Amino acid sequence: MSLLKGLFGNTGNCAACHKMIPAFEMVMRARNNVYHLECFACQQCNHRFCVGDRFFLLENKILCEYDYEERMIFANLPYEPSAKQQRQFIHT
Ligand SMILES: [Zn+2]
Ligand SMILES: [Zn+2]
Repeated sequence: MSLLKGLFGNTGNCAACHKMIPAFEMVMRARNNVYHLECFACQQCNHRFCVGDRFFLLENKILCEYDYEERMIFANLPYEPSAKQQRQFIHT
């Protein structure tokens, strides 16, 4: 008798809500992470993904394309505002 019914320890916990995912449940996979279907959404704007949609993992968080690009723009901003615009404070 070797009915494989529910391989425990093989599904793991949802990377979004950290609850255990039952073995029979459909999951979304991203890299080494697994997610409940209902948990697999952009963690910034809650956008739900359809098959074929692009998503990104940033610091283990799911991001939609839009939010990911927004983050990247922020990340690439120069941290020295004085480099380009030298502000002068004129005291009157
Ligand atoms: Zn979950
Ligand atoms: Zn988003």
